[in-house]
Amino acid sequence: MNYDRLREEMVREQLIPRGIEDERVLVSFRKVKREVFVPAELREDAYGDFPLSIGEGQTISQPYMVALMTQCLELTGNEKVLEIGTGSGYQTAILAELSKQVYSIERIRTLARRAEEILEKLNYTNIKILVGDGTLGWKEFSPYDRILVTAAAEEIPSPAMDQLKEKGIMVIPVGSIYSQDLKVIKKEKGRPKVKTVERCVFVPLIGKYGWDESVRGE
Ligand code: SAH
Repeated sequence: MNYDRLREEMVREQLIPRGIEDERVLVSFRKVKREVFVPAELREDAYGDFPLSIGEGQTISQPYMVALMTQCLELTGNEKVLEIGTGSGYQTAILAELSKQVYSIERIRTLARRAEEILEKLNYTNIKILVGDGTLGWKEFSPYDRILVTAAAEEIPSPAMDQLKEKGIMVIPVGSIYSQDLKVIKKEKGRPKVKTVERCVFVPLIGKYGWDESVRGE
């Protein structure tokens, strides 16, 4: 498999024609090797235009969705970013390429550990991962310039909103467990200014300010 070629095709065929135009975002997608974040048996599909299973009932998001969420964060390189839902760690690597420091929370320990191992091997030094309930945010390092939630919320978790800086941006899928609107929220004078950018389908955000575990039959 020529993954370098597949990566370039992903950028040209899936991202650029759909409106991903932030040069820094495109550079990061050309750089980060998605195949290393995907389970070995699915590696050949790493650059497919769809989400993939990463075990524990969770998924690595479709490349376009990762790119769109990243573009909506308007990163310049100086930001402190909180990611809720580490999953495979692929999105985490993209954020680490484009910002100063990334804090990422994952509720499933095995996924968090696996992502951590891969990211360490890739020599990222600006990522910290926490195993826990991301709907509570990560108070210790707050406030954040940007917050990205990569699982579906019924409502914006209030601790995350509290931990977002004034003029900060949060990107979060909000809706039912079956489908959501990708929302971009800017905090202006303490209040959320909300814009919807796309329809999407994410796995549920489970936690104190999210869905109950029973939504997944766990
Ligand atoms: N960006 C990731 C998306 C993974 S799917 C990727 O592309 O690989 C969303 C992840 O959110 C899952 O791994 C799920 O376990 C996690 N998650 C769900 N609820 C959470 C919570 N309250 N706190 C932290 N992680 C959560």
